Amino acid sequence: MRRKLIAGNWKMHGSLAANAVLLQGIKAAPSLSSVDVAVCVPAPYFAQCRAELEGATVKWGAQDVSAHVAGAYTGEVSVAMLADFGCRYAIVGHSERRSYHAESDAAVAQKALRALDAGLVPIVCVGETLAEREAAQTGAVVARQLDAVVAVVAGVAKDALEHLVIAYEPVWAIGTGKTATPDMAQEVHAFLRSRLAAASASAASVVRILYGGSMKPDNAADLLAMPDIDGGLIGGASLKATDFLAIVDAASRHGKD
Ligand code: PEP
Repeated sequence: MRRKLIAGNWKMHGSLAANAVLLQGIKAAPSLSSVDVAVCVPAPYFAQCRAELEGATVKWGAQDVSAHVAGAYTGEVSVAMLADFGCRYAIVGHSERRSYHAESDAAVAQKALRALDAGLVPIVCVGETLAEREAAQTGAVVARQLDAVVAVVAGVAKDALEHLVIAYEPVWAIGTGKTATPDMAQEVHAFLRSRLAAASASAASVVRILYGGSMKPDNAADLLAMPDIDGGLIGGASLKATDFLAIVDAASRHGKD
């Protein structure tokens, strides 16, 4: 069965001193046997994560990665560099990258493919804006975003689809304090899983679909109880160890292993 995954997205927050405190707090988590835990951190802090989390069950990842293997791409970070630092995960297609950096579905698909090539787990973000939801476009938008990745990855190796993690993040819920209700989120998660099933039944059964968008200790349990919600991608609440661990605890109570 699918293990829950709780992944923090620190975004552009942190400092060596603040991270040390946060990582110590997260590392002190009691038993994490039924849930995978990760933090996705700004690139300058990969070395710190590697040192602080050595031997811990908590893994770390990046918030983005280059679509290119190597070369003259000033400012970019390659998957090989992430792998060098022991990163396990790479978020790709976060809505902040899609909107502020004009990342296309095709670019997101390339990034996911690069991550898989390097043995990393891409966390592929999809989600609709408020205007798209109000125009009843949610299904069409997330299908387009997911299908772009599925087509590219399955085109290389169908089995590779099984190594994806998907994060459904309604844009209107990110950092706003507004959360999709468990039923709203479940509906989209089930739809995404059916979409995956059309490409690969085995991928549909093993791929974890996380929910992201103002998940907090007080709403996590209800969201994580839904059958197709396999974890959370956590922004704001991942910056405080007690909040993050409370979400991990909620996940462990709904763990399916
Ligand atoms: C995110 O940025 O991925 C996110 C889910 O943020 P927040 O939890 O703050 O809404």
